[in-house]
Parts: sequence; C-alpha cells; structure tokens
Amino acid sequence: MAGRSRLIRLLNSYSGRMVGGVLLLHVVLLPFLLTKVISLIEHSYISQFVNNSRSDAYLLSDLVGSTPDQERVRNYMDEAVLTSRVEFAKYIGKSGESISLGRFPEKLVEDFSFSSHDDGVYQIVVPVFDPQAREVAELVLGYDERPVQLDMSQAKRSVYSMMGIYSTAMLIFSIFFARNLARPINQLQSLTRYIAEGGYGKLDETMGIKSSITEIRDLSLDLERTRRQLLEQTSKLEFQAYHDSLTRLPNRILLEDRVEQMIRVADRHRKSFSLMILDLDKFKEVNDTLGHHVGDQLLAVFANRVKRSLRNMDTFSRLSGDEFAILLSENDRKKTEKVIEKISALLERPFTVDEQNLQVSASIGVAIFPDHASNFSGLLKCADIAMYHAKRQGKRYSVYSEEMEHLDVEKIGMANELRNALKHGDLVLYYQPKLSLEGNRVDCVEALVRWKHPRKGILAPDEFIPVAEKSQLINELTYYVLDQALRQCQQWLKKGLHLSIAVNLSAKNLLDESLLRNIRILLDQYQVLPGFLELEVTESMVMRDPTQAHKVLSQIIRMGIKVVMDDFGSGYTSLAQLVSLPVSIVKIDKSFVLNMFKSREHRAIVKSVIDLSHSLGKLVVSEGVENQRIMTEISDMKSDQVQGFHICSPLPADQLEDWLSRTDYRIGEIPVEKYHESGQYSV
Ligand code: C2E
Ligand code: CA
Ligand code: CA
Repeated sequence: MAGRSRLIRLLNSYSGRMVGGVLLLHVVLLPFLLTKVISLIEHSYISQFVNNSRSDAYLLSDLVGSTPDQERVRNYMDEAVLTSRVEFAKYIGKSGESISLGRFPEKLVEDFSFSSHDDGVYQIVVPVFDPQAREVAELVLGYDERPVQLDMSQAKRSVYSMMGIYSTAMLIFSIFFARNLARPINQLQSLTRYIAEGGYGKLDETMGIKSSITEIRDLSLDLERTRRQLLEQTSKLEFQAYHDSLTRLPNRILLEDRVEQMIRVADRHRKSFSLMILDLDKFKEVNDTLGHHVGDQLLAVFANRVKRSLRNMDTFSRLSGDEFAILLSENDRKKTEKVIEKISALLERPFTVDEQNLQVSASIGVAIFPDHASNFSGLLKCADIAMYHAKRQGKRYSVYSEEMEHLDVEKIGMANELRNALKHGDLVLYYQPKLSLEGNRVDCVEALVRWKHPRKGILAPDEFIPVAEKSQLINELTYYVLDQALRQCQQWLKKGLHLSIAVNLSAKNLLDESLLRNIRILLDQYQVLPGFLELEVTESMVMRDPTQAHKVLSQIIRMGIKVVMDDFGSGYTSLAQLVSLPVSIVKIDKSFVLNMFKSREHRAIVKSVIDLSHSLGKLVVSEGVENQRIMTEISDMKSDQVQGFHICSPLPADQLEDWLSRTDYRIGEIPVEKYHESGQYSV
C-alpha cells in the first residue's frame, strides 16, 4: 500500500512526470524507428545481393554461351563455383547434355526473392545464348545467402545495441536533468511550506535558493522578499499585540504572560517575587487642565524615565491610563523598597512637556507571590488594593495586607453611616475666620464640616468627603452644609455679627442643575443677601468640565455670590488661565504659604499669584498662615486676606463666638463693593 502511494507520488512529481514522459516517448517511437531502420538495412543488403547475383549469373551465361566447347564451359563454371559465392552451378543444354558442379540441393527451385524456400541458397535460372543468339541451354546457379544473412543480423545487432545505448543515455540524462530541475523546485516548495506554516526565519538571514535557472532564481527572490515582508509585518503586529502604542511598554497581555512564567519558575524553585501597581496622582487634572496631548506626552516621558531606571529583567508595563505595573524578578523586601525609592527620586525632578515643567507624584501598591495570591489576577487585585490604600493614606507605597480589604468594606459601611448621619444631623460645622489685613477685620468665616461619629469621635472632612463623592451623597451633603451655614449666618446677623460665610463645593455640585435654584431658595429662606455667601471651588473642579463650570460660576457671580478659587497653585492651571476664570477671589494653596521660607520657588509663586490676581482685579487670600513670620511676610506681599492656625483654628459656632468676643480684630463690616472695584464680576 505504502509502495503504491509512493509510486503514485513519484508519478505525480515533477521528475516522475519528466522521466515517465521520456520513457513513454521511447516506448512508442523506438519500435517504429527500429523496424524502419532494420527494413531499410535489409532492403539494401538484399537488393545489393540480388543485383550482384543476377549480373554475375548473366556474365557467366555470356561466357558459357560464347563457346561450344564443353570442356571450357565446365572450366568457366568450375571457376565460378570455386571463386565466387556460387554454391552450385548446373548447365542444362537444349540437346540434353548437362554439367553439374558444387553442392547440389535435392530439388531445383527457382527463387524469385531472397531467402525463399528456406534453403539458404538463392537459385536463379538464366538462359544461355550462342553467338548467333540462339538459346542453347539454361544455367541454374545457386548463390549462398548465408553471408548476407550473417551481415544483416550483424547490422541489426549493432542497430539494436546503438538504440539500447541511446535509450539508456536518454533515460539517465532525463533522470539527471529532472532531478537537477526538481531539486531547486523541491527546495522552493519546502521553503514555501515553511513560510506558510508561519516560520519566517530571521531578518538577518537569507533563505533564498541558489539556482542557475532564471525562473527559479526569480521565484526564489520573490519568495525571499515575501518572507521578509511577512516577517516585518508579523513582528510589527506582534509588537502591537503585546505593547502599548503610546509608551511602547509591554501591555497587560504580555505582563500576564511574564507573571505566569515567573509563577512557574518561582513554584519550581520555591521562590517569591513581587508585582507592583503604580498609579499617578492627580493625573486626571493634567488631562483636564492641560489637555490630553500634554497628558499623553507626560505618560510617555514618565514611562521612559522609569523604564531606564529598572533592570532589563524587570517588566515595566502600562495597564491603562495612568496605571502601570512593575514585575520584579526577585522579592527581597529591601530590593522592592530600593526600586520604590528610585522611582520616587526620579519623580522629584519635574517632567518637561510642551515647555512646561510638570511635577508628578505616584502611589504604589505591592503584592507578593505566593504570600498574597498565587495567580496573575489575584496578584493584580492585591497590588491594586494596596495602591489605593497608599493613595488614601497619602503614602508613597504600601504592601498588601488582608486588613486593607476590610477597610474597603468599611468604606461601603461608611457611606450608609454617612447617609444616616445626614438624616440625624450628626454633621457639624466648624468655622475658621478669614482676616482682612486692611483694617484688621474679620468679615468672613469658612465653614468646614466635621462628622460627630458615635464610635470614632470627630472625623475630619478628608475621611468622609471622598466617600460622599463616590456614593452620590455629595449633593445632599453640600445642601446640608449650605443650610447649616446660612442658618448660622442668619443667627449671627440677628446678633449683629455681620459675617459672610464661605462654603466649599465639590466637583459634582457644579453638574447639579438644581444647584442655583436651591441656593436661591436657601438664601430666601434664611433672609441672607447673596453678598454674604462665598463659594469655594478648586481649579481641578473647574478644569474637569470647563464649559459647564464657566457657565455655572458666571451665573453664581451674577447672583451676587462670590466665587473663591481654592487651593490655587496645587493643580496645573497656569497664571495665564486665571484671566478667563469667573472667580472673584483667589486663595493661594497652603502648601506654598507654609513652605515660603523653605523654598524660594514657593515664595516666588506666592508673590506672583498675589501680583497677578491684583492686576486682574481679584482679591487674594493666603491660607496656611501658621505663624507670625508668615503673617508678616504675607502682609508685606499685600495679600488681602489671611487664614490659618496663627489667626484662629476652625471652631464650632459657639467657640468661635467666644473667640470673636475676645479678639482685637474688628468684626463684621463687610465692604462688599470694595472687592469689585474693577467691575469685572461686580454684584
Ligand atoms: P480647604 O478648603 O483647603 O480647607 C482648609 C483646610 O486647611 C482645613 O482642613 C483647615 O482646618 C486647614 N487649615 C486651616 N488653617 C491651617 C493652617 O494654618 N495650617 C494648616 N496646615 N492647615 C490649616 P479641614 O477642615 O480638615 O478641611 C479639609 C478639606 O476638606 C478642605 O480643604 C475642603 O477642601 C474640604 N472640606 C471641608 N468642609 C467641606 C464641605 O463642607 N464640603 C466640601 N465639599 N468639602 C469640604
Ligand atoms: Ca476651602
Ligand atoms: Ca484650601
């Protein structure tokens, strides 16, 4: 069976067909050619023999007829029998005399063609004429056919052997030729198959076939070109499939692959390794304020800088947006810490994007195999939880622990508790005065919310505002604070304390369509003029949806409410952008004020914010005034208002009233119009 299929394969192959074709041609043509050649040879031999014999016989008959002398006749015949190919001769005279010479056959039969009667002798009978042309006798001559037959068969043999040699040579040649031709074709075939099966080899190697046959050489060159193109395309596609296009870092798929490899190795050698998640802080702000193209460039330069600081064996991958992962090949706590330190150090230098210097910080979560999880998704989840934990705690990094998950559950519980707290009035407002330096007056206080938690005591806003923002409670909370603050404002007004109240807004509040209507209702309800209310917003809030924010803030200002740009400088708003922002007051972030004497840059920022805001007709508040030194410096810089522990910490309403009654500062004379002399956002 196998033999048969091999034969069929051979017959269907190029060389099989070629050799088969040559064989077939010869099987059909050779017998025909042979018979033709042989009959030609035979014909020429026979006709030569017959002609010779006949002319010989007539010559002898002429000689014999020329003499009546019987003795001479016999001599002539004798000579013929002896010397020529004549086997026998017989003279039969008309008058009955006869002479017989040679070896006679049994019966005399005249032959009319060569080799008839199968007696090996060609017999001819010729008449004998005397000189007077009278027929006097008959001459019967027998010519030996055997020498001619021998010659003929010898000639045939050499024809056969020549044909044999020719056929064999032809066969050998065709096999050789077919093989020679088929070899490069076979090589091309295997190369094509190799390529079709996805084996593209390497770019620096050549896979072409060497052949002197032009068509095959061209085909081979084409194939080589195709292979290279496929190789380039495949490696490009492969790169795209496993890498992030922006940073060119390995993507999640490749990371997963490497982590799984690492798990196999670590399992075998009972080793551990760590997976870290690194998330940029406040990256959204960069995107919102400076645009996505700056955000993208920042990610790319950041990725490049971190990548260069890691070893080749470590994998640095981009998971999504501003989230990256680092797979360290070994887990030595010290080493992990070293890597984190290295990354933190390189984040201290600002990143230059679009000719702007951007400062970036990051939070890192660490998960360790096999302590925390034994597969990729588990490790990723743990690192993620640890990263969020670090972010919440304001730490550079944290290593996963089970309690962190409980904390998350706790946050969900907290949202429910907060909902109840809002219902039961467990949130209270503390008030922190803002001091106007001109005239040493306190005419505004900022309302800062606190949660009187039944078990945990007084909670700071940073602990629950993010929960409120996440759990859709933030609008409710803001209205709660506005309600309490305006109620307090009304009470103070009634007591003759003319204090305006500043309330902090959250980003989501600006998207709330009923915000303005609700504020108006509350102002009406408590009979408070809009000029007694300030709303504090942060730049990141504004930049999240600038069009909407501009619209809402302009409406707020038109209502006569003042808008304070809180924490100015902590985001990415440039001083130039300040021009177009619909705000009445700029509050410099406390981090700059607090560090005024530690860094010249911070001091310079404070000074330029004050100067620029003034030239734009905006008031400036400096928060974080913790000591007299800062206070003096800030007032020298002509900040309009100051706020900070040095003046007064945030206090509950009753305690604030005590403080107000004791303080030397003048209280509650609001020169509202003075704020807006420039008229830009005037009431
Ligand atoms: P903020 O608006 O920047 O408020 C100022 C924060 O700085 C307050 O923290 C205040 O206690 C603190 N502070 C005041 N003087 C000084 C000082 O001299 N030095 C230092 N180091 N800090 C000072 P607090 O009350 O914990 O509030 C934190 C943040 O929570 C606020 O920052 C504000 O963004 C937010 N927040 C507070 N109340 C509310 C609210 O009712 N609604 C919303 N949405 N956010 C609020
Ligand atoms: Ca504030
Ligand atoms: Ca602030």
